[in-house]
Amino acid sequence: MRSRRGLLLLTLVLAVAWASSDRFDAPAVAPDGRLDVVLITVDCLRADHTGCGGYGRDTTPVLDGLARKGVCFETALATCDWTLPSLASILSGLPPSRHGAVRTSARLMPEVRTLAECMQERGYATAGFVASVFGDPDCGLGQGFSIFNVCINIPRDLPAGAPPPSGVEDANAALVADRAVRWLQAPPAGPRFLWVHFLDPHYPYAQREPYFSQFHPSPAVEKAGDPDFRFGAMPNGVWPGGEPMPERFRETMIALYDSEVRYTDEAIGRVLAQVDLAHTFVAIAADHGEQLRERGWIGHGLSCSRQELHVPLVLAGAGVPQGRRVRTAVSLVDLYSTLLTAADASGFAPPDGAPLERFFGSFEPESGPIYSDDQVAHYGDRIYSVFEAGSRAAQRFDGSTGSLMQTSFYDWKSDPQELSEAHDPGTVQQLELLGKLDRWIGLMQTALRAGGDPTGRDIRLGPGRLAQLRDLGYLR
Ligand SMILES: [Zn+2]
Repeated sequence: MRSRRGLLLLTLVLAVAWASSDRFDAPAVAPDGRLDVVLITVDCLRADHTGCGGYGRDTTPVLDGLARKGVCFETALATCDWTLPSLASILSGLPPSRHGAVRTSARLMPEVRTLAECMQERGYATAGFVASVFGDPDCGLGQGFSIFNVCINIPRDLPAGAPPPSGVEDANAALVADRAVRWLQAPPAGPRFLWVHFLDPHYPYAQREPYFSQFHPSPAVEKAGDPDFRFGAMPNGVWPGGEPMPERFRETMIALYDSEVRYTDEAIGRVLAQVDLAHTFVAIAADHGEQLRERGWIGHGLSCSRQELHVPLVLAGAGVPQGRRVRTAVSLVDLYSTLLTAADASGFAPPDGAPLERFFGSFEPESGPIYSDDQVAHYGDRIYSVFEAGSRAAQRFDGSTGSLMQTSFYDWKSDPQELSEAHDPGTVQQLELLGKLDRWIGLMQTALRAGGDPTGRDIRLGPGRLAQLRDLGYLR
């Protein structure tokens, strides 16, 4: 009897120790017991500038801690290399050519059912706190959110002392986190779906202290005429003249970018402090990455390069195995079905994409090809990309004539930064990859044309098209 009591006491002590070490504070559990779902996206955060992605600087201690408690996907690719199409893919479960939000002036096709709409149908309270111009209601990302708060940065050419236009404010991570925290602290009437989008690692980079000084002991700006990465002296994505950037500037630029990442990670920590992982499913990702002059320029949305497509992806919380790293490549388009599966594992037909819960078992499934595209890249050109088994192929088409301009191949095993490219397939694998890309481009161009016709843009896929997509590995 005494030993049983001792065992009970030991079990209790261990349970308390586990709970205090593995959970964040201040849980608020939905009365009906269903999981809360929290999706956090960070603008322009490339995978290799996170700790869990192998970066040497301590840029993401919160994200790394969450990755240790959950599953870290080492090779997650965005569906597009700029904000609106990629976020629309995450929220719709569709590639850009099928959801239609492929231009800055475009919006989701009306028939698209967003993640938030599906959550609402299941009785979830929905809220989005989004720092991005693409949060504009006309873009459609707010569909299905009962509360949808958008921050848009104050114009940088606003005269000193002039009041900002109505609804415009400094869209920094602290402000966005404050609003998300307040919403999470309110007593829940039922299960909740929260989406938070942070903008801060987007160009131009602010100097976030103390992080910038930790990463780069020299001043951010050295003398008159030097580039000022802090306040947007350069337009997004362009280094003037294409001239070689002195290394001291590149180091400054990267330290500023990293300071923004660290500052955003801190804000993520404040949101997660309100989350009880025992009753919440959390997903953190980026909408796309960032070129930091590997191709001679700064920014994104121009080339569908690895730096722009390879993003962090971490899942954690209820039902998620701890401390697992997945090497198989996945697409962010899968987040839609993943979060719906977490919210309600029964009673709905699986949407497009494949739930990432398939990686929660002991067996790691193999990857199919991962597709991305940018319909307005490089001043109107179209770029399509496919990645599989360490190799990537991309094709660029003239936006006006539709003619093929360039085919490129990259091998991440021998050239992880894609610093050299081949223009002809040199291996059987590359030839096969090109064949898959060709077929997928055909499907996507058909879908985009269908979506462009307002009288007949119902592009819901019939069984034949579904089978085609399955053969191509899109539906896994
Ligand atoms: Zn973005």
